[in-house]
Amino acid sequence: MTSTAFASSTSTSSAAASTAQHLINGQWLGAADTERMNPARPQEVAAYSPIGSAADVDAAITAAAAAQPGWAALPAPARGAILIAAAGLLQERESTVAADLVREEGKTLAEARGEVKRAVDVLRFFGSLGWAATGEVLPSGLPGTTITTRREPMGVFALITPWNFPIAIPAWKAAPALVSGNAVVLKPAELTPLSATHLARALHDAGLPAGVFNVVHGKGRVVGAALASDPRVAGLSFTGSTNVGLGLQEVLNARRARVQLEMGGKNAVLVLDDADPVAAAQVVAAGAFGLTGQACTATSRVYVTPGIRETFLDALVAEASGYLPGDGLEPGTRLGAVVSRAQFDQDLDAVRTAVDRGATLLHGSVDADPEAGLFFPAAVLTGLAADDPAVTEEIFGPVVAVLEVPDYEAGLAAVNDSRYGLTAGICTDSLKLSTDFAARVQAGVVKVNRPTAGLDLNVPFGGVKDSSTNTFREQGRTAVDFYTWGKTVYTGS
Ligand code: NAD
Repeated sequence: MTSTAFASSTSTSSAAASTAQHLINGQWLGAADTERMNPARPQEVAAYSPIGSAADVDAAITAAAAAQPGWAALPAPARGAILIAAAGLLQERESTVAADLVREEGKTLAEARGEVKRAVDVLRFFGSLGWAATGEVLPSGLPGTTITTRREPMGVFALITPWNFPIAIPAWKAAPALVSGNAVVLKPAELTPLSATHLARALHDAGLPAGVFNVVHGKGRVVGAALASDPRVAGLSFTGSTNVGLGLQEVLNARRARVQLEMGGKNAVLVLDDADPVAAAQVVAAGAFGLTGQACTATSRVYVTPGIRETFLDALVAEASGYLPGDGLEPGTRLGAVVSRAQFDQDLDAVRTAVDRGATLLHGSVDADPEAGLFFPAAVLTGLAADDPAVTEEIFGPVVAVLEVPDYEAGLAAVNDSRYGLTAGICTDSLKLSTDFAARVQAGVVKVNRPTAGLDLNVPFGGVKDSSTNTFREQGRTAVDFYTWGKTVYTGS
């Protein structure tokens, strides 16, 4: 077992905790009901935030329903211009927003800055779609008739989001909803109230009319449940765990409202004999340990063929040792803090259970101590059975299980042997096999010689199987489809 060092703690500077608020009908509301502690600094409050009630949700939906027709009546380029202005404000505030994101979520400052930049770019991308035509002109079989297709806003959308991308996910759901002419009520994750508040502030300060974008903080089973069941909500876009998502789907389906779910993953990479072992190890490590492994697209299973197994594992352990856990605000940190004690315990339990079942821990620790900060060393496990929980269940931490497979076909079958299907990767020089893999793997996103985590904003994103509703995709131009009704118009002369 390799020992892991923690990033040196030279900076102890702490900022006064910021306070999140609800945004309801253009008003900043709510008391500092609860504290969110910094996962890297056990004594430091990262944020104060209100805990919303069903009455807050009712007020937010009422405001959204009242504001939506006026918002939809604005020309689409004018709606887009407000998103673009919000992007500019968020960019100006980047250093504050990114530091707050690190304090409340734990990721490294570089990762947080990348995420804030993503939110900025998302707002610009969808803002610019305000200028883009969205319909088609089609011929009709009837004389003197033209057919056009249109996409119309549907009303009020609820967005329920997780803590792991606390500003990017709310941005990539809200932006297509807003530019299409809908009003929104966002319920952010309890652990990360500040990031969503920064997004709301940027939109509010950019001149978004009161009521068009609302935020209600609080508990999922109160605020989230009230949003899902309200008949004035035309649709719900949810990102989070599979169990919560499937429960919400039943509620939305029962009232025949639109629902989009992006949920868990158990993403695998297949490493073949012809791959460069060092390059493959870098691809796997970036996917497994980047963002502290707390990405729905993170790599958590690796299947490797016999000829490259030893050199790949040596290279992967060397890579893992470079991911120094520590406070995300410290310059040496490459592996930010785990988000919560519950998640830390889940990570540790997964590693301990695997070792108890006979696995070998090539890198990492079964004795990680959360008392000084939720720092969890990168874990590389081998010697696992295919049905070990570390191979089958989502851990959502910096833990990767490496299993040997005899050949490509067995590796592809192993990758597909999962209830999830979000992202999948292959490391190989073979065009033939990578093409075959892309065609036959059961995943919504396929990466060839690239980490499973990390996505561009202009392309569709979503999973298959239990990772997604697998109907409407998020991101890219197609994201707008979820937030709009299709309409076909016949015009006679
Ligand atoms: P979570 O399901 O616990 O919570 C997600 C959101 O749902 C939170 O805002 C929470 O308050 C709310 N919620 C919880 N219970 C609810 C209920 N009964 N009714 C309504 N809302 C409720 O997930 P999390 O712990 O915040 O995030 C981690 C999970 O998210 C992982 O499983 C991860 O794979 C998944 N995730 C998926 C994607 C993706 O795009 N597929 C992206 C990021 C995270």
